[in-house]
Amino acid sequence: MCIDMSSTRIRRIGILVTGECNLHCLHCLQSLRATTCLDSSIIFRLLQEANELGAEEVLLSGGEPTVHPQILRIIGHIKDLGMKYSMNTNGQNFKALLQACSILPPSHFTVSLDGATQDSNDAIRGPGAFSKAVFTLRLMGSLGQKARIQSVLTKNVIPEIQKMIQLAINLGIDGLVFAVPMPTERLISMNLLPTAREIHLAISKITTIRRQYSSELSIAVYGTMTNHARLSPFEVCDNLRMRELSVDWHGNLVLCCQLAGYPYNENEVIASLFNKSLRDCLLPLRSRIVAMQACFNSVFTRGSVKYSTPCLWCARTLDKYWEPNSNYAK
Ligand code: SF4
Ligand code: SF4
Repeated sequence: MCIDMSSTRIRRIGILVTGECNLHCLHCLQSLRATTCLDSSIIFRLLQEANELGAEEVLLSGGEPTVHPQILRIIGHIKDLGMKYSMNTNGQNFKALLQACSILPPSHFTVSLDGATQDSNDAIRGPGAFSKAVFTLRLMGSLGQKARIQSVLTKNVIPEIQKMIQLAINLGIDGLVFAVPMPTERLISMNLLPTAREIHLAISKITTIRRQYSSELSIAVYGTMTNHARLSPFEVCDNLRMRELSVDWHGNLVLCCQLAGYPYNENEVIASLFNKSLRDCLLPLRSRIVAMQACFNSVFTRGSVKYSTPCLWCARTLDKYWEPNSNYAK
């Protein structure tokens, strides 16, 4: 199997505009988070370069993008370039999100919630986080703004899958995305990381019950091949197909946003964009992906359950995965 990447077209650039955040969630991947924001002049240049490479869409993420002091200017710049954007947010700062909408409404907001109730969510995301996020989601719904919930499948969330679906329907939003958790020391020490079997059972449950709700809500699972007939990650991941470029808050081109800042090394970094253009970094990115693909091809058997969680495979391949429970990534 060899994916031809020569014909791929860059569609989107994901920019982690800041490592800062106003929450401290237990499952946060960005343990090495920077305390500063990516300079807006670099962001403006990268937006221009991405646009010239053909990207039509920007994903603003973090950290929490609304804490970037120039976030509204950044959105104004996206508008001036004729691009679209979406934003991953924790939904705590509804005023900033309203201001963002007034400049250019996003294709959608993705708001993180890690429980269907105040108790379960706030145990992961901190006191008061649930009520603010739900307020924001209701507000977006009342304005007709497209929004969806993202929820990480921790031990807290798995028993509440059905309740999460009901909450999303009650809030009148468009979608619900469940994400397979990446292990962090805090998740493990708090006994919130499910076992591999618990994850696979949860994914099977979601895959089965989501059909019942297909007319009301789009439900997906991020970070698993279950929805893709166990294809290789190189056939489904937009970063590995070079359809999406990702930039971290240090101004580095990185393999993807998912791995940015994830411990325990910086092997996801391709190159610093401070002194190089995006175009100049495409060849090193391609070389890194081709090397990973060769590594994957040497072990992949189509239909294997072992590689059904591709993000964990990437983390292991890049020596980033800390593996106290060796069964988790299998
Ligand atoms: S809202 Fe996101 S970036 Fe902020 S602490 Fe939680 S997981 Fe991390
Ligand atoms: S970790 Fe790998 S499979 Fe997951 S989003 Fe990143 S590049 Fe894609």
